[in-house]
Amino acid sequence: MKKADVIVVGAGPSGLRTAARLAGAGLEVRVLEKKPRVGACVLCTGIVGREVFDDFGLDRSPIVEELRRVRLVSPFATELIYEHPRPFACVVDRERFDGALAGSVAAAGAEIVCNTRVEDIDVRPDGVEVSVKDEAGAVRREGAAVAVLATGVDFGLQKKLGLSSPRDFLKGAQVECSFPGADMTTLFFGRDIAPGAFAWSVPAGDGRARIGLLTRKDPKACLRRLLDRSFDGVRITAEQSGIRTKPVAQGLLAKTSGDRVLAVGEAAGQTKTTTGGGISYGLACADLAADVIRECFDRSSFGPAGLAAYERRWKALLQKEILVGQCTRRMCARLSDGRIESLFQLARTDGIVPIIRDMADFDRHSGLIFALLQRLSFMKFFRDVKDRLGPMSLS
Ligand SMILES: Cc1cc2nc3c(=O)[nH]c(=O)nc-3n(C[C@H](O)[C@H](O)[C@H](O)COP(=O)(O)OP(=O)(O)OC[C@H]3O[C@@H](n4cnc5c(N)ncnc54)[C@H](O)[C@@H]3O)c2cc1C
Repeated sequence: MKKADVIVVGAGPSGLRTAARLAGAGLEVRVLEKKPRVGACVLCTGIVGREVFDDFGLDRSPIVEELRRVRLVSPFATELIYEHPRPFACVVDRERFDGALAGSVAAAGAEIVCNTRVEDIDVRPDGVEVSVKDEAGAVRREGAAVAVLATGVDFGLQKKLGLSSPRDFLKGAQVECSFPGADMTTLFFGRDIAPGAFAWSVPAGDGRARIGLLTRKDPKACLRRLLDRSFDGVRITAEQSGIRTKPVAQGLLAKTSGDRVLAVGEAAGQTKTTTGGGISYGLACADLAADVIRECFDRSSFGPAGLAAYERRWKALLQKEILVGQCTRRMCARLSDGRIESLFQLARTDGIVPIIRDMADFDRHSGLIFALLQRLSFMKFFRDVKDRLGPMSLS
């Protein structure tokens, strides 16, 4: 049986970052990925805050666009254009982004084994054992001292091990296509467009755009309807067959570490509850996971108490963002189209643009949310919604 110090299940950004950090610290790491190659067929718009590249020392070559201007469109076609003083986010090619992370894993000396699905996992007193199935259907076992579950929205292994899995999901749908005007970033709001969340068109380089949405239900039907409307006078019908869907995990998970295992990235619910973005949270938590695992190796102790430090650290970083974001999104999901329109009018007339300019942080939204709620008109607006629709709960 092959043995390593750490097995990382899943070669998305979170798993790859964890593996690179651990291998860089001298541990023997194997990354097991069920897809045929890293970054294959990822469904993602690929937007990350601009700071991510400096904060994590990442290769900038996967960047295909920088975003500075956003157009917001209300259910009644009112438009607001927000222009930031400088680019605030980048759009990446996810295959190349994940590929660059894989390069850093290989450079640190870890092995990534693709076409290898982890089917089962057992925790024993002296280590973890995983059953893996390769492309040809052959099953073998591999062992390690610790396993990191970085499986995205695939929660089977962590359920088996008694770790938490999300109860709340949004459903995402997206298609990539080219049309005149594809270089404009646009967000669409409205109950008919994306009930429960929002839709977008984001430039993807070379005159192409990623058009997608998050919604509570029927993401494909919602996206078809959006494409049937028009994009600056152009109807997008040909690409409708290319629509793909995927859930996005939402909400704070109670238990993301246990005996010799921990979950990282979307597998641990580390996604923004406002927008569904998960790359930067996954990278930040991967660093925390790697630190805690290294400390466990220093002590040669891999029990639940040692790994619980990971849970404490990532929640100290993100718990507030996840809870405030979830509450805000749920509140916004209850707004009628008329109320969304009133919000647009408020935003237009009430001088909130300077607040956005000062407070907006691409990855941490609670500061801006609190700043807006301190504004009398917004506080009154949401108090009125609460009075009419009843109080909100997160359960
Ligand atoms: C439509 C849409 C648009 C999005 N846009 C953005 C965006 O613009 N910005 C952003 O930050 N986020 C975005 N997201 C979310 C983002 O894609 C995820 O948060 C991010 O990919 C999570 O990274 P991860 O490494 O945790 O998981 P993943 O990237 O999902 O990687 C998990 C990996 O584990 C592998 N795996 C799973 N189970 C097993 C197994 N049993 N054995 C072996 N391998 C396994 C999978 O094949 C996969 O490669 C979007 C999501 C959707 C659906």
